[in-house]
Amino acid sequence: MSIVFVFNTIYIEILVYSIVATMLVGIDCGFMLYLIAIIPLGYYAVYSFRDEDKKINPMIYVISTVVAFWVTRIVFRFIEPMYSFGNIVIDRVMYMVNYTAIAIAIVVFCSVIVTRVISLEEKQRLQNEALDKLSKLDPLTGLSNRRSIQERCKLAELENESYAIVLGDIDDFKKINDTYGHNIGDEVLKEVANIFKNAIRSDDIVCRWGGEEILIFIPGASKEQAEMVAERILGKIRTLTVETENHAKVGVTMTMGVAVSIEAKEFIGVAKAADDRLYIGKQLGKNRIISNGGQA
Ligand code: GH3
Ligand code: MG
Ligand code: MG
Repeated sequence: MSIVFVFNTIYIEILVYSIVATMLVGIDCGFMLYLIAIIPLGYYAVYSFRDEDKKINPMIYVISTVVAFWVTRIVFRFIEPMYSFGNIVIDRVMYMVNYTAIAIAIVVFCSVIVTRVISLEEKQRLQNEALDKLSKLDPLTGLSNRRSIQERCKLAELENESYAIVLGDIDDFKKINDTYGHNIGDEVLKEVANIFKNAIRSDDIVCRWGGEEILIFIPGASKEQAEMVAERILGKIRTLTVETENHAKVGVTMTMGVAVSIEAKEFIGVAKAADDRLYIGKQLGKNRIISNGGQA
């Protein structure tokens, strides 16, 4: 038995009870009010049972209920009720009891709907937040991705905020991949990323700039301060070893270029300056930090 069938049975039952009650005690006792009160239930059914096979049209409930209301009203205007209390006070009290019962039912119904809408909106908000976070993260390393750092840099440019960047590139990473396999390469990348993550302050952003390139954005930092950050990180990377399945120990080094915001008009120019220095570092034998020279 489907839930829609159960709902329809209950709906028809209320409809029939209202008509029969009106037939028994007359229209003045207010049993017809139920025929107005149940109209929103049709819409509730459409919403709640939207995943059921059969699509529900709310107008079926609206039209059948409105027709039932008017037919009952017109017919029992002319036909005497089967039973009369013979006392207008009892009719009035009956009307007020029915009215109050319906008012309470409508309040409960609306509260259920509002609570449901609020909880759905909250769920949606949390999902959007989680998606937004995910769309800004690199899946392998958990670092921010290039897009998110570019957004942050645009903001810095707009507000004329000074900053420094450190761009690091793992040395001979291709050789690590070729010698120990891509999985070990990934492991090295993750470990290096962790070192970066643990070395920065909460205001700094560290992002995976490219394949094995990691960039740190340090708001408000001078070149000397950025150099110190780079040295601290490089020191830790030099002591890092990743063990392979065959118990071989893979050592890692990195070359880094440092640049600051005053060296170029836009972030991309500052990144280029850091990249040029990184290239010089590679030329000079890798495993070092270069913060002067190169194109600015
Ligand atoms: P250099 O010291 O001059 O930087 O040499 P390199 O070998 O590190 O540089 P190269 O650009 O020749 O090679 C980078 C390699 O990084 C090539 C690419 O396959 C690898 N790589 C890029 N992304 C990933 C990744 O997500 N995982 C793994 N395992 N390797 C990656
Ligand atoms: Mg490299
Ligand atoms: Mg590279």
